Amino acid sequence: MIYKQKLYVKTFGCQMNVNDSEYMIGQLEQLGYSQSSDIFKADLVLLNTCCVRAKVEQKIYSLIGKIKEIKENKPDLILGICGCMAQKEKENIFKRAPYVDLIIGPSQVNNLKEIISRINSNKKQSIFCNNTTCFNLKDVPIKRESKISAWIQIMRGCNNYCSYCVVPYTRGPEQSRGASEILSEINDLAKNNYKEIFLLGQNVNSYGNNLSQPVAFSKLLELINNVNGIERIRFTTSHPKDFSFDLIETIKECNKICNHIHLPIQSGSSKILKMMNRKYDIDYYKNIIKKIRNNIDNIAITTDVMVGFPGETEDDFLDTLRAFKEIEFDEAYTFIYSNRDNAIASLLPEQVPLEIKKERLWKLIDLQKEISAKINKKLEGKIFEVLVDRKSKKHIENQFSGRTGTNKTMVFTSKQDLLGKLVKVKIIKSSAWTLYGELIE
Ligand code: SAM
Ligand code: SF4
Repeated sequence: MIYKQKLYVKTFGCQMNVNDSEYMIGQLEQLGYSQSSDIFKADLVLLNTCCVRAKVEQKIYSLIGKIKEIKENKPDLILGICGCMAQKEKENIFKRAPYVDLIIGPSQVNNLKEIISRINSNKKQSIFCNNTTCFNLKDVPIKRESKISAWIQIMRGCNNYCSYCVVPYTRGPEQSRGASEILSEINDLAKNNYKEIFLLGQNVNSYGNNLSQPVAFSKLLELINNVNGIERIRFTTSHPKDFSFDLIETIKECNKICNHIHLPIQSGSSKILKMMNRKYDIDYYKNIIKKIRNNIDNIAITTDVMVGFPGETEDDFLDTLRAFKEIEFDEAYTFIYSNRDNAIASLLPEQVPLEIKKERLWKLIDLQKEISAKINKKLEGKIFEVLVDRKSKKHIENQFSGRTGTNKTMVFTSKQDLLGKLVKVKIIKSSAWTLYGELIE
């Protein structure tokens, strides 16, 4: 059955969710749905949710509340809550919002076509949240947002159980996709003129462990490096505990792997890292950074960090500030620790008051801004290769933006349409977050 109806999808959270939404839209377009950016015109509304922090969950519940009014005026509207919050909350969502039709966990994304066909025929409220099913994206239709850069999930789930994190409970145990399936997808993307591949996993360094014929992540990168047409390879996220010297060598040897590594530190205090169950201490972390910088020229390193983990004293926070001053990350994603029901850190005593958490967050953001600005200032006058991926967000005529291999945003002007091209740009001005340049080629 083909439905000539409108679909509205809103995505929250990480790149993995963005990619899941691409699969959702691809499947539903095959069923005849067309996308709308106007929720009021939609016949099917899907919220692809995140629940890593409590704040985003509250925001999603409040959006679900607003959709109630739309549903009252349009009773046939189907409302589905998908993704990590769906998996975590399950029937709680029905209790709080009985007008929701579907609850679909992240592992069921590949079955969406079937799920939607079913609800269209039986109109029955249902939950699809089995997160132990086999991870399978083979031949699942996808509608990619970009025609230049493609997200590829190489694995799903996580076995690490960091004590603050809900992901192992929402995305289930770690599962890798076979290397030949990944390579065949990348070959198809290359034939369709994609230039950049962005490999996704919660801990890409443990890629391949569960395969019947294990393939190391560094080997997978080497194989992808040989695909003709692909110019750039990126990946995220790396867990410091599994970051091998082999991987450093591979990044150095493979010309298409971008010189950017995202390596979450989470805290600069070894005491807190232990309580987080991160399985490394700060000296181990600093040692990896040293090895990376000693072996790969002009590498950019970014990180994730949290403030206010239970038991974090002023001294522990000072350790984080010290680590940031010493390491000098190119950029950092800074978070306030948020209690999550399933994660055991929520049971720890000595929760840090919100005011202190906010104070620490701002101190860290200010420090990082200074560091990023200093690093970028030193780049002025240098020439970088940029993959042009968008026209000006502000609709400024002839303005384009792209990313350097080090994953910095570069803004410049050109009279020619350069979307999808790799060009050389000289940096003439910089800020903490953006480089401004002039085209030299
Ligand atoms: N797998 C990645 C790793 O190991 O670093 C990260 C995945 S997690 C979805 C993204 C980031 O969210 C984490 O690096 C962490 O800094 C942050 N995060 C996770 N749980 C959190 C929590 N309970 N409160 C605040 N931030 C959290
Ligand atoms: Fe969460 Fe830790 Fe797994 Fe990352 S490695 S997803 S932070 S449990």
